[in-house]
Amino acid sequence: MASCVGSTCTRCRQAGKKLFLKGSRCRTTKCAIEKKLPAPGQHGKRSAMRRVSEYGKQLAEKQHLKWMYGMREGAFKRFFRTSSHCKGATGDNLLSFLERRLDNVVYRLKMATSRSQARQMVVHGHVTVNSNRVNSPSFFVSENDVIGFTQSTLDMKDFVKNVIDKRMNIGVRVPEWLELKKKDHEGVILRLPGRQDMTDEVEDHLIVELYSK
Ligand code: SF4
Repeated sequence: MASCVGSTCTRCRQAGKKLFLKGSRCRTTKCAIEKKLPAPGQHGKRSAMRRVSEYGKQLAEKQHLKWMYGMREGAFKRFFRTSSHCKGATGDNLLSFLERRLDNVVYRLKMATSRSQARQMVVHGHVTVNSNRVNSPSFFVSENDVIGFTQSTLDMKDFVKNVIDKRMNIGVRVPEWLELKKKDHEGVILRLPGRQDMTDEVEDHLIVELYSK
């Protein structure tokens, strides 16, 4: 039986690294990357050994980051443009902006097991910022913001107990720029994320080079 199928795992196999697209499965031995499955397609093994041009590497790294955060090309480009106009290194700014997206924060706070699941929760109106419902996944969180659930979501006691509480108790570390208050089912933005908070392998300099052409 195939251990990991579907376009999401295929993307990781193409990237040759974990993009964490499938929720809790990504942290198990069923993960295609953990199993060291080759890149998909007839020429999977051979393509892994093929020399890739600098442009190809830049393009691939941009795709991987886009896939990881579940973004479309247009939105990603806009993020990049904004990052390049801000003070500081463009790559650092880009990563910080991506991390500050509400769907990512919901995922990082373990309120969802993947970014796509987090996005669904936000779009379906389950998530609040400072007690106000926010249904835009690309909403930027700010320092001291409190991320929580709507009262109607918290009133679904079985859902909270069997789904939310279980997710929050998985053995995954919450990044240092966030604080998770499990009992209150909420999280706080302690500070804005920086380059040092990125634990995923990202070669952002390749993306900066790509868009600087
Ligand atoms: Fe599939 Fe997740 Fe592993 Fe990627 S990290 S290959 S999405 S299980």
